[in-house]
Amino acid sequence: MSAVVPLPRIHPLAAEVANQIAAGEVIERPASVVKELVENSIDAAASKITIDIARAGIKLIRVQDNGQGIHKDDLALALQSHATSKLTRVSDLSQIASLGFRGEALPSIASVSRFQLISRQQHADNAWSIDNSLVLKPAAHAEGTTVEVKDLFHATPARRKFLKSERTEWLHIQSLVKAVALGHSHIAFQLRYEDQHNLYFASCSELPQQRVVDVCGKAFLQHSVVVDAGRESMHVRGWIGLNEVARSQTDRQYFFVNGRLVQDKHIQHALRLAYSDTVARGRYPSYVLFLQLNPADVDINVHPAKSEVRFAEPRNVHDFIYASLTNAFANNNRTEVKPGKPARGETGSTSSVNEPTAFYRQTDQLQQELLKQTESGVNYLELLEGKFLIVDTGSDQLLIDVADTGILLALHELLHAYRTGRVEQRPIQVSVSCNLTIKQQLIVQEQQALIKQWGFIIEPISPEQVAVRAIPAMLSYADIVPLVKDFLNALCSKEHNEQVAARLAEHVNDAGLNINEAYVALLLEKINRYEQQSTALKSLPWRRLDAAALAAMLNSQA
Ligand code: ADP
Ligand code: MG
Repeated sequence: MSAVVPLPRIHPLAAEVANQIAAGEVIERPASVVKELVENSIDAAASKITIDIARAGIKLIRVQDNGQGIHKDDLALALQSHATSKLTRVSDLSQIASLGFRGEALPSIASVSRFQLISRQQHADNAWSIDNSLVLKPAAHAEGTTVEVKDLFHATPARRKFLKSERTEWLHIQSLVKAVALGHSHIAFQLRYEDQHNLYFASCSELPQQRVVDVCGKAFLQHSVVVDAGRESMHVRGWIGLNEVARSQTDRQYFFVNGRLVQDKHIQHALRLAYSDTVARGRYPSYVLFLQLNPADVDINVHPAKSEVRFAEPRNVHDFIYASLTNAFANNNRTEVKPGKPARGETGSTSSVNEPTAFYRQTDQLQQELLKQTESGVNYLELLEGKFLIVDTGSDQLLIDVADTGILLALHELLHAYRTGRVEQRPIQVSVSCNLTIKQQLIVQEQQALIKQWGFIIEPISPEQVAVRAIPAMLSYADIVPLVKDFLNALCSKEHNEQVAARLAEHVNDAGLNINEAYVALLLEKINRYEQQSTALKSLPWRRLDAAALAAMLNSQA
């Protein structure tokens, strides 16, 4: 008999490790169950994953794989919270290569469904099954694992109420499977709806672009530019769609970090900047990009659904992505697209997915509808897509206009930093060039010290052109060219410092910023500081909501 490498076994995590893990609700809707189960199959090194769905996943979700299976004695552990085979020590958290690591998905799913797990480990004589009753029974099954989830949320009608229509939930499941399939082209995926063949992606490890064609269509590849670039330990590859394949929504934007589909404001900003000349206004670019970097340089233990990450060097990553995309557009490398057959089943209902398929974004929105309670004791409610916040500070309530408050606070901070000679610079690694008028150019030549004091480094490179090498750190997310032009115009017309700061503050750009606990706490802190330091407390973009203020608001409407 050949020697068998023992597979990792499941064990409960020590409390100190469990406590380090970003906890939270992972199971919000049928698509979240599919995500967790499919990720488990991927972690188990499956080469084929079959997903069966009935009634949008509410009646049935079955995920079957041919992966390494679970040891009979570990089946009960698999259903125990914080038991995992993927992680042991706190230090492992910085080196996670698997998609899962929290040991929470199966117990959470089992607690809200009629649940059955059947598994047969490689070289085991037979399969074993376990269900909600935790009784082990022998079963028939090929090597691999099947998880069957029936009557999801049957005992929690409140949760069911939050589900959208069956069609919407089904669309979520399809988008999710497509996204996961894009990230793992060596695995074959089959998605069936009520026993009808629906989607089939054959394994294509030799030719990953076949998977891109299967998921995004041939036209996408035909009208996109190849990205393949590396710097230090980072590598980005993939395809960026040109204007021809831009869309009216963000449903074809896939960015993977170490195999994980994520949302990140730095990356989104770099993409927006790189795309600014390529895609028409009001349209959304399509792209499929894979960023690989050292696992120690990215923290994935930030968000319960692991859809957000934290980079150790976000600016580095930002500038690298921006530079790689800009170069790719300039080089205009194309993939040769051979006439091939579309993915089987890639017809009818599947290709007409026309809802924003950014699954993770939507689950976030769902969360936003709920009042959030934060650890700091600050309750807040987001209104109108995060444009306004109602914050309960414990002692009173505030109504905040998020954008205007951002601008006012930036103005205040910039002016203060300018006056004390402490405007922090944010270097632009890939310098941005900018065409100027003669007047603007003169200012650049004559006012270097002043320009620097405002946090900029701008160098003339030709009679009409300058290179921007740094901008104020506070305006990191601003679009650089309009920012610099506005700034130089303000200097040209010899505006007061307040006016210059006001012009600059208009460029504060928090688009894509996630409003979360830390954000709200910081905002409150800044508002309090502003109120203490500033005497101009009229027409502020926030208001304390005492009874008199509420009455005044209602009366002014009448
Ligand atoms: P996590 O994936 O975070 O470890 P889960 O609750 O999703 O936690 O799964 C618990 C454990 O069950 C995993 O660590 C793994 O050992 C085992 N497991 C779950 N699904 C599968 C599968 N499809 N194939 C093999 N093992 C699995
Ligand atoms: Mg898991």
